[in-house]
Amino acid sequence: MKTNVLGYPRIGADRALKKASEKYWKGLITQTELEAAGRAIKKLNWQLQNNAGIDFIPSNDFSFYDQILDASLAYGCIPSRYKQILKDKSQLDLYFAMARGFQEEGEDVTAMEMTKWFDTNYHYIVPEFTKNQSFELLSTKAIDEYQEALDLGIQTKPVLISPVTYLLLGKEKEAGFHRLDLLDNLLPVFFDLVDKLVKSGATYIQLDEPCLALDLSAESKEAITKTYTQLAARFPKLKVILTNYFDCFGDNLDTVLKLPVYALHLDLVRCSEQLNDIINSELFNPNQTLSLGIVEGRNIWINDFEKSISTIEKAKNFLSPERIWIASSCSLLHVPCDLDLEKNTKNLPEEVKQGLAFAKQKVDEIVTLAQLSARDITEAATVKFALNTQANRTKKTSALINHFPTQARAASVTEQDSRRVSVFKDRQHLQHKHLNLPLYPTTTIGSFPQTKEVRAWRAKFKKNEISEADYDEFLKTETEKTIRFQEETSLDVLVHGEFERNDMVEYFGERLEGFAFSDFGWVQSYGSRCVKPPILFGDVYRTAPMTVKWSAYAQSLTEKPVKGMLTGPVTILQWSFVRNDQPRALTCKQIALAIRDEVIDLEKAGLSIIQIDEPAIREGLPLRKRYWESYLNWAVESFKIAASGVKDSTQIHTHMCYSEFNDIIKNIAQMDADVITIETSRSEMELLDAFVNFKYPNEIGPGVYDIHSPRVPTLNEIESLLVKAGKLLPERNIWVNPDCGLKTRDWPETKSALINLVKAAKIMREKSAVES
Ligand code: GLN
Ligand code: ZN
Repeated sequence: MKTNVLGYPRIGADRALKKASEKYWKGLITQTELEAAGRAIKKLNWQLQNNAGIDFIPSNDFSFYDQILDASLAYGCIPSRYKQILKDKSQLDLYFAMARGFQEEGEDVTAMEMTKWFDTNYHYIVPEFTKNQSFELLSTKAIDEYQEALDLGIQTKPVLISPVTYLLLGKEKEAGFHRLDLLDNLLPVFFDLVDKLVKSGATYIQLDEPCLALDLSAESKEAITKTYTQLAARFPKLKVILTNYFDCFGDNLDTVLKLPVYALHLDLVRCSEQLNDIINSELFNPNQTLSLGIVEGRNIWINDFEKSISTIEKAKNFLSPERIWIASSCSLLHVPCDLDLEKNTKNLPEEVKQGLAFAKQKVDEIVTLAQLSARDITEAATVKFALNTQANRTKKTSALINHFPTQARAASVTEQDSRRVSVFKDRQHLQHKHLNLPLYPTTTIGSFPQTKEVRAWRAKFKKNEISEADYDEFLKTETEKTIRFQEETSLDVLVHGEFERNDMVEYFGERLEGFAFSDFGWVQSYGSRCVKPPILFGDVYRTAPMTVKWSAYAQSLTEKPVKGMLTGPVTILQWSFVRNDQPRALTCKQIALAIRDEVIDLEKAGLSIIQIDEPAIREGLPLRKRYWESYLNWAVESFKIAASGVKDSTQIHTHMCYSEFNDIIKNIAQMDADVITIETSRSEMELLDAFVNFKYPNEIGPGVYDIHSPRVPTLNEIESLLVKAGKLLPERNIWVNPDCGLKTRDWPETKSALINLVKAAKIMREKSAVES
């Protein structure tokens, strides 16, 4: 059996690409040096896979920023605002200008939009399309990379994004057409690229078509049929691997099975039924090859060899072994590079580590599975099988993973636990009496500037260069300064500033049982930005309060109400590597119970307002709509479990940023937070429409300025946004706040912005008094 890898991480094991790119952007290294850094990573990746014995090694899976932006360059899809840069600069600089914007030499061009890659935490650059636009083969990266590997003596399988998925992932920038209308213009350029690859010697091509994991219109299906039919007609000898991942083919299966392609790749991790569906279909052609995506590319747990082998055996009943490939479920881009680098047994105990596999280890698993499925099984493969069985057994029975009281508690949760004592109207009445806030109360979303100094102190503390007492003293000073600043500015509901937190998920992971941490477990989020998700490996529970100290300290400094700050269960789940041995819903419930205890402790400590952030609730939505309701049910329930342990007079806030609310507004209302703060300023309050149309009953803080830019909003701007909001919503329901936390900002602009924000709220109050 042959082995197939869909893509390999490109940041490099110690983030060499991140470091080199950032140096290049600062002008510290030349383009040649950056390209050399890229070549070194590609070489290591290819050699690693080659040495491991992978048959289908990907090329063109490397990228200096993003593979969809690479495709935009390949097809010459360059928005007109970059035309000058296209003329004046190198192709690489044009590429980075599209990714990051360009503000130099009297030019000021904005970046292209970025959005999440399906349901992952990776972000791609959204192609921009205009009516009747033409394409041209502009960048030859795919061909160059194929050649680059060949020069090293390695035959690769170029990876291309299919023209249909490419178009569907983009956006029309003017009215009067649909982006699929552009297919006829794009196909010749795509064929030209394929032709050049074939002429360079490529015999296989991996054509990524992940839109097959979505609900597709009839037009999209037709576009797919057209693309593959024409491709096969033009290149009868080329072996095309139609590659889908992240979900089943679903309704698209019949279309797919009729396509003239050499191989089909299936994500059997996300969709294990897929294999049965295909072999039972009348349309299935037994001469076609199946690439079984059986080693998970999205998560970091070891494979279960026993289970995988039984799946492979099933395929063998229908297909001859040469028609079966063993593969990663999707690109390994979504997992870190190499587990062998992890040496810190305090953060990552051996017992947990033995159950993990990063990209390099997954490559080995793929090869081993192929060896185990061969007629003559080698001694070495047998040993690996035994080790894998043992590791999976340890993973199940480990005392570190199982905490029986937590399991029992989660099992005995009742409906009561996710319900506040009284309905919102009654709570609101009590809260207004208790808090005595003015109309248009002002607040912030939680964090205040994480300055260089704050980060330097944290780093020193982490490296044991300063004592805990010194670090505490520093945090106290920062917190107090922030409280005083908020008092002077006359904000109504204060926050402690979150100076003690590195990251809104990691901070809680570090304080909860059931989490482990890697030192080098970086995954690309976008461009040079990498994240290191906590590893949620076992039952989650809390052994002590996590945030009470800082919130209570802040409250002790002031007469004004301080808002306790927590990250919600869905966001903690969403931004971690989550255990795969039980449903996500159950894991989320365990986190919810831990947060619930924290909420109750904050209330006991005298905090009468508590915010539970859920910025990730929307991105957890399944790719296909028919699964939305079930996800939303448990996600909302988890939030409510976390929020419902308090008295009616305690006010629960939640916060969400950058969300499209229209299609989930019903579920947001079900969360029943007393106050929700959201992003709306960039869209000039357009995002509020969902709340207005739905007649959202609870209180809302529509963000009145964009914190992602250093620009200080004017008093007039804020006021006019509030006037808009005032016309749309009942006045007593409106809060005034920025649209997200201030941690990425500096103090000077933060101060000026908040002064304007408070002034605007005061003007609104005066107007309201005059009117009544
Ligand atoms: N409370 C967090 C902060 O202010 C919220 C961050 C977020 O929404 N992403 O930083
Ligand atoms: Zn936010």
